[in-house]
Amino acid sequence: MRLLVLEDDPGIAATIRSALEQAGLLVEVEKDGEEGWFRGDTEPYDAVVLDLGLPGLDGLTVLKRWRKAGRTLPVLVLTARGNWDERVEGIDAGADDYLTKPFRVEELVARVRALLRRAAGHPSPVIEVGDISLDTRQMRVAKGGLPIQLSPQEYRLVSYLMHHRGRVVSQPELTEHLYFQDFELDSNAIEVLVRRVRQKLGTEAILTRRGFGYTMDGEPD
Ligand code: CA
Repeated sequence: MRLLVLEDDPGIAATIRSALEQAGLLVEVEKDGEEGWFRGDTEPYDAVVLDLGLPGLDGLTVLKRWRKAGRTLPVLVLTARGNWDERVEGIDAGADDYLTKPFRVEELVARVRALLRRAAGHPSPVIEVGDISLDTRQMRVAKGGLPIQLSPQEYRLVSYLMHHRGRVVSQPELTEHLYFQDFELDSNAIEVLVRRVRQKLGTEAILTRRGFGYTMDGEPD
């Protein structure tokens, strides 16, 4: 899962980045509103954390422009304490959730996780596919109740496929959601990653649909 954090305060941005990375997410930080709007408009982020007070273009305008253009990506808005009218405006502009500064970073992470789950249609923090379970709170994957050790990148693959269980996900889509924009990627990187996960979760855990992509919880060919 790839996230955009639009926050101009370097201290807050660093705290958010490190907490979200520890939660197994891929995080890109941008401090300028105009640049952030552009990135959210052109890159397929799974969610955005959006500070309302930004240089360049204010967060509310950024959000309104995305929504006007039909961008449905989940957005959590950060507002200043006491500004209830800002919160109302943010929600009216299309925010999915908000958090008032100062906040506990643990709460931000929990809210982001919930946004990602809800966007994919999962009300519960534990997603199951067959005998495989993904606990998004603890970043744990288990098979038949037994914990399986995955590297951060392996976890991101399983997490993305399980959030979108039953759907065939193409290699380009996986590349976009599992790696940073400018990352130099070997053409077979996804294949190698899938193979490693199959060694740990079983060959049937991830199914290949030739010419289309990969799926968890689909019918075999
Ligand atoms: Ca700010």
